[in-house]
Amino acid sequence: MPSQNIASASPHVLIFPLPLQGAVNSMLKLAELLCISEINITFLVTEHIYSRLIRHTNVMSRYPGFVLRSISDGLPDGHERSGARYMEMFDSMKYNSKALLKELLTCGELEQGGRGPVTCVIADGLMSFVFDVAKEINISMFSMRTLSPSSLSIFFSMPQMIQSGELPFTGDDLDTPIKSVPGMENFLRRRDLPSFCRSNTLSNPSIQLFKNESQENARTQGLILNAFDDLEGPVLDHIHASCPNIYTIGPLHAHLKKKLAGTSYYRTASSNSLRKEDRSCMSWLDSQAYKSVIYVSFGSIATVTRDQLMEFWYGLVKSGCKFLWVIRPDSISGDGEIPAEVLEGTKERGYIVGWAPQEEVLAHNAVGGFLTHSGWNSTLESVIEGVPMICWPYFMDQQVNSRFVSEVWKLGLDMKDTCDRVIVERMVKELMIERKDEFTKSADRMAMLAKKSLSEGGSSCSNLERLVKDIKATAG
Ligand code: UDP
Repeated sequence: MPSQNIASASPHVLIFPLPLQGAVNSMLKLAELLCISEINITFLVTEHIYSRLIRHTNVMSRYPGFVLRSISDGLPDGHERSGARYMEMFDSMKYNSKALLKELLTCGELEQGGRGPVTCVIADGLMSFVFDVAKEINISMFSMRTLSPSSLSIFFSMPQMIQSGELPFTGDDLDTPIKSVPGMENFLRRRDLPSFCRSNTLSNPSIQLFKNESQENARTQGLILNAFDDLEGPVLDHIHASCPNIYTIGPLHAHLKKKLAGTSYYRTASSNSLRKEDRSCMSWLDSQAYKSVIYVSFGSIATVTRDQLMEFWYGLVKSGCKFLWVIRPDSISGDGEIPAEVLEGTKERGYIVGWAPQEEVLAHNAVGGFLTHSGWNSTLESVIEGVPMICWPYFMDQQVNSRFVSEVWKLGLDMKDTCDRVIVERMVKELMIERKDEFTKSADRMAMLAKKSLSEGGSSCSNLERLVKDIKATAG
């Protein structure tokens, strides 16, 4: 690690992510990119995230300008803080963390160690209370959205969808087209909208949250997105109408890897995982044939029932393909145990871990496909490695991401709203064998565009330079 301290005249950014794995992951990567550009960072997380982060990440020791801090979310210790109860977390933070944040930003505590005062705040665009505080104490603010731009475009269009009668709807005819989202008129259906839209009332708290908070992004100085221009051009044009200053700087994980390689910070790959990775799967992959393995993972939040798990397992085994499957200890609803027949029967064809080093797995040359829940990080990690996908979306932006993967980018197949062993078997065979060349070709092309965006003069590379310049300007 370089020994020089960043001068106290440097800009000092407070970054505050949503307390969810995907959001923390992306914003930590942004924090690292800014540290490399000699910007002091205070990375603020809730106490619940803090205790998990310090156990598994090496980011704290890597940069002299990086400080990790925590703040209470106001919820009791035993609260789940995820799944169906995430709305309680939003509400609690809105009321409890706001005053604590203002105190933290004004008491001078963050200036210790020769760091100047916070000159700018970057917060998840779903936490407008942070922007209220920044405005009150008159410091610059940027918003970041860690979900896909296509979902953001839908959130921005919610008032029009309500006006045209497309929202709310009852759950019946999910194939009804949606026409009020600019640029998506030809392929968007009810079933591709964020899962919380499947509600027959506009007072649904998630509809209210995403509709109202998204409009708040416009009052920040700029919007940072984990995306690249060639992937989402028309969608970005639409977001521009609400947020004229956009910084598309993704795929963030690959952008960081590239920047680290050229600095003295480079040592080992950085891990922002909130869970302990089981690296034994890497040696298992080493012994598998080129592009022969389908990697199966549904991210950090999605759960499956025991019946769904069995449908996936039978489908995977019957496909005849080798598979590497992440089954988190908390991912099976009910008793949570992996059935003995799955463990025993997998030995011949596959490998199961509780948590994998996913970015490395997707970059391994034995991996030829990804059965994913279409979380935005997972999607980008797959895109840049040129790995075609089968999408089984769970919630939030995943429903629209999977539609883009299959219908717009032609990078794979969409299995949403079904979970049947025959379909799993058929789709795995289609992706890994029958249409392998077709999908590999489009995946290679998109991977090439992703890499181009990160190269000198590429859109994500130039946008990051512009962001760094704009943040440095906040220090006067
Ligand atoms: N991930 C991982 N190991 C696993 C499964 C997931 O490191 O076994 C990481 C993955 O690389 C991604 C994140 O967890 O960066 C999941 O984020 P995503 O947006 O895909 O989904 P979410 O967890 O938010 O639903």
